[in-house]
Amino acid sequence: MFLHFGHSERLLNYYEDESAVCDNCGEKALTYRIVQKYYQIQGIPFLPAHKYTGVSCENCMYGHNNVISENAKRYEKLSKTPLYLYSGALVLSLTFLSLIVLACLSIIFPD
Ligand SMILES: [Zn+2]
Repeated sequence: MFLHFGHSERLLNYYEDESAVCDNCGEKALTYRIVQKYYQIQGIPFLPAHKYTGVSCENCMYGHNNVISENAKRYEKLSKTPLYLYSGALVLSLTFLSLIVLACLSIIFPD
């Protein structure tokens, strides 16, 4: 049996900003997409990685990822990482913790 390790990404949120100006056409209507990357094992989210911001213009269809701007930083702060992206790490931690507790109990109360 092979375990499939990998990474994926999930759209956290998007914001339509009517005050931001497109670098390509000068239109004042950009859409910011906040995307969370995460690691997974067998399709189960294990740990979140970094976020990035993509921007696109509806007028000229110009767009790019990894935007570094004050708006991008603000929107990334507003988009919290969902707790379920820690599922794998939480299950693994609880498993080890319960094994440690069981080992301690068997030492304290032998038969
Ligand atoms: Zn544009």
